[in-house]
Amino acid sequence: MGGGNGQKAKMAREKNAEKQRAAGKGSQLEANKKAMSIQCKVCLQTFISTTSEEKCKEHAEAKHPKTDLTVAFPHLKK
Ligand SMILES: [Zn+2]
Repeated sequence: MGGGNGQKAKMAREKNAEKQRAAGKGSQLEANKKAMSIQCKVCLQTFISTTSEEKCKEHAEAKHPKTDLTVAFPHLKK
């Protein structure tokens, strides 16, 4: 009665959706990687590029109190 075709089409659709999900995940990971553009030069921890100066200071003061802020985060040098 043609029921087999419907089943095949459904499977194909699901396979496609899976592919698209996988591709989307990959590009999201790539975007995340690119966004991690601030790095603490002392412990090499990375931060997203939108991390505020305040947050960087917090990190430096908490983790590296003996190190100058601009040594850990040279981009904050004025
Ligand atoms: Zn650090």
